[in-house]
Amino acid sequence: MEDRIKQVVILGSTGSIGTQALEVMRQHRNIKPIAIAAYENITLLEQQIREFHPQYACVYVEEKALELKSRVADCDTKIVSKMEGLLLISTLEQADIVLTALVGMIGIRPTIAAIQAKKDIALANKETLVTAGHIIMPLSKENGVSILPVDSEHSAIFQSLNGEKQTQIEKILLTASGGPFRGKSREELQQVTREDALRHPNWSMGKKITIDSATMVNKGLEVIEAKWLFQVPVHKIQVVVQPQSVIHSMVQFVDGAVMAQMGTADMKLPIQYALTYPSRKNLKEERLDFFKLGQITFEAPDLEVFTGLKMAYQVGERADSYPTVYNAANEFAVKKFLEGKISFLTITDLISYALKEHKAIDSPSVEEILQVEQWVYELLEKKCKK
Ligand code: MG
Repeated sequence: MEDRIKQVVILGSTGSIGTQALEVMRQHRNIKPIAIAAYENITLLEQQIREFHPQYACVYVEEKALELKSRVADCDTKIVSKMEGLLLISTLEQADIVLTALVGMIGIRPTIAAIQAKKDIALANKETLVTAGHIIMPLSKENGVSILPVDSEHSAIFQSLNGEKQTQIEKILLTASGGPFRGKSREELQQVTREDALRHPNWSMGKKITIDSATMVNKGLEVIEAKWLFQVPVHKIQVVVQPQSVIHSMVQFVDGAVMAQMGTADMKLPIQYALTYPSRKNLKEERLDFFKLGQITFEAPDLEVFTGLKMAYQVGERADSYPTVYNAANEFAVKKFLEGKISFLTITDLISYALKEHKAIDSPSVEEILQVEQWVYELLEKKCKK
C-alpha cells in the first residue's frame, strides 16, 4: 500500500500551490502527476511536461493549447483545452486524487465532475466551498469521497481533529497572521499602495491571496470554508491573530482541551499531507526552532478596521447566494486594485455595496451561482464607471 504510486491530477500546476505540489513530488517519486492543467502559462507547462511526463496537459485558453501542442510535439503528453479538457482530466480512470488549485470559479465544475467520478479531492480552491459548499459536501458524502484540505489553516484543523469526534468540537480557533496592515487604523489604510499590500510578512503566495490577506477577506473566506469542511456554524469559528504564523490553527473540544498544529510557514507540508493522508512522509524542509522563535503572541482581529472579515461572518451563516456575492465582489475588486484602478479601502466598499444590492437565492445551483457571479461583475463594472 505504502509504495503504490499515487496518481495525481493537478488543476492549476503553474500557480503557487501547483508548483509547490510538484516540488513535493520531486521528493517523492511514488506521488506522480498524471495530468496537469493551467490557464495559459505554456512556458512553465512545457517545462513541467518535459520533467514529469504527465499523460495529459490542459491549457484553458485554446490558442495557447495549440501553441503548446506544437512545442511539445516530440513528447507523449496529450494536450487538451477549455472546460472540456479540465473535465476530461478531472475524471481520468487512473486518477486517485485531484488537486484543485485553480484560481476562481473556473474550478467548480471540474471539482464536481471529479467527485462524481469518485476521486478524492485535495482542495486548494476556496471558491468551491464558499459558493457551493451546500452542493459539494453532500455530493462528496454520497460518493464516498474525501475532501482533504490544502489550505494551511484547514489542514491544521483537520490534523487537530485526527482521531477525535466532530460532535465534541466546542469551537474552532482559526489563526491569522493579520497580514501586512495588522494594527493599522482605517485612516492609515487610506494611503496604502498596491506594493504595500503585496508585502506579506510570512507567507509567499499568489497575488490575489496576498491582497486577500491584507484585507483579511482571505480569513473571511476561510471561516466560511471551515464551516462546510468541519460542519461547524460560523459563530463557533473564532479568528485568532497569531502574527508569527507558527500555529496554523487549533480546535477546542468540549472538555476545554485545545489541539494545535504548528510548523514553519511552508505550504509544502499541508500540500503533502493532503496527498499522503493518512500517512506522513519525510519532508526535507526547515524545522521549527522554538528557541530562535522565542515567543508566540496572540491578539483579536479588529473587525471595525477589517470590515471584510466582519462581512464574512454576516454572510457565512447562510447557505444561499450571499457568500457567492461576497466572493465574486472581492474577486472583481482585487483585480481592479491590482490594476491600480481603485484604492485599498474601496475593495471592501465594493463588497458591501454588492451585498446590499443583492436579493438572495436559496441553495443556488451551480448554474445560478455562475449567474450571480456574472451579475456581480456587471453591477460593479457599472458602479466603477460612475
Ligand atoms: Mg490560509
